[in-house]
Amino acid sequence: MTTVVVGAGIIGTTIAYELQKRGRRVILLDKGEVGRGASYGNMASIAVTEFMPASRPSIWKQIPGWMLDPEGPVRVRPSYMPKLLPWFARFVAASRPARLRQLEAEGAALCSRVYDDLLPLLRETGLESELTEEGCLSLYSNEAEFRADREHIEILERFDFPHQRLTGAEARELEPELSDRIGLAVLFPENRSLRDPFRLVNKLAQRFTALGGEFRRCAVAGFDRSSRVTAVRLVGGDPIAADEVVISAGAHSGLLSKMLGEPMPLETERGYHTQIMAPGVSMRHSIIWPARAFMVTPTAGGIRVGGTVEMAGLDAAPDYRRSKITVRRAQTALPNLRCENFTEWMGHRPALPDTVPVMSASAKTPGVFYAAGHGHLGVTYAATTARLMGDLITGRTPPIDMRPYRVDRF
Ligand SMILES: Cc1cc2nc3c(=O)[nH]c(=O)nc-3n(C[C@H](O)[C@H](O)[C@H](O)COP(=O)(O)OP(=O)(O)OC[C@H]3O[C@@H](n4cnc5c(N)ncnc54)[C@H](O)[C@@H]3O)c2cc1C
Repeated sequence: MTTVVVGAGIIGTTIAYELQKRGRRVILLDKGEVGRGASYGNMASIAVTEFMPASRPSIWKQIPGWMLDPEGPVRVRPSYMPKLLPWFARFVAASRPARLRQLEAEGAALCSRVYDDLLPLLRETGLESELTEEGCLSLYSNEAEFRADREHIEILERFDFPHQRLTGAEARELEPELSDRIGLAVLFPENRSLRDPFRLVNKLAQRFTALGGEFRRCAVAGFDRSSRVTAVRLVGGDPIAADEVVISAGAHSGLLSKMLGEPMPLETERGYHTQIMAPGVSMRHSIIWPARAFMVTPTAGGIRVGGTVEMAGLDAAPDYRRSKITVRRAQTALPNLRCENFTEWMGHRPALPDTVPVMSASAKTPGVFYAAGHGHLGVTYAATTARLMGDLITGRTPPIDMRPYRVDRF
């Protein structure tokens, strides 16, 4: 039984490892190097508290204001607006109160099992040291800002995710570099982070090949199908015969699913990071400041500052003004943060309009499976996705109801 996994980001690589471990013959394909997509430069957070749907009215009501503000946390390039409208219509449809309650539960069902899947994966691959021990601090300058984020905290309470309210002084005891503008904070102790997500994907790929899995660098151009999928066609190469195909090509999965006759409404929420090798500060926790829409994570190669959403499609050139804005905001929380010896990066979050990923068998072609659309949480969900997809593909009953994550839900 040969399974071809398309896309060697954190999702495809983790699934390839899981299937190889379960006895499939697995070929993992990528048009580029392993782990160079969104999985390269994300904010490295195992963000189990961040599952609330993006389609909340409190978010989309702010969108018109953000559109007029070039420094706002969400930017839509005007030329891209017409292409975005069908996705945006689905996004608004996902904001009905009853649908929001379902989406919260579907996100919480994944987040509440993240460590049950991630810790065994890290242990069995000898990669436990890739995960930090510290949590994440959510910052607020005052009570009014905290109240504006109340919806988030209430969702965590509803689903029993641990969090601890701190005064500004208590937050500074944990992170002495924090500005005294921070009036209060919430500690999310379970939001630990990875030292380097790119290194983790590569180490998982090494464990996969050590088990007999095969990685090939080639771009997928299409699929051969009869009553089921039979082969994967490549750009400039012979087709690869396949009994099963897993589409896990991040933000590009929409193009591949279209070739298979079941297009997913997948957009790219482009995000930026600045990796500062000589930041002049040292930190143990990651921090987010919801009102200022940035995140800072201490990583193996210095301090990483990131955030923001830019809707401009897969092909537009990066606009690194976005990363500079984010660094300036981070300096309001960390006044001693220096931006010296740094690199900038842009990546494509694979975003579905209702926030929860697709983890599903094809509704049209036997042998085809999809694992895509993990949005802001692909690193967080990777081990759980691999566990659930492993069960789906090998015919075992997954430990949670998989219907909410079906590809034909749109
Ligand atoms: C700025 C930023 C910050 C983020 N922070 C976090 C965070 O803190 N925590 C978190 O959990 N998540 C975070 N994310 C989200 C996370 O990075 C993504 O959800 C995750 O990396 C998606 O993984 P993936 O494997 O689906 O996609 P990718 O990593 O993009 O991999 C897809 C792969 O498919 C390949 N591919 C595409 N088309 C083809 C083709 N035709 N043929 C062959 N190969 C193909 C690509 O080359 C690529 O390597 C962040 C994302 C960004 C951009």
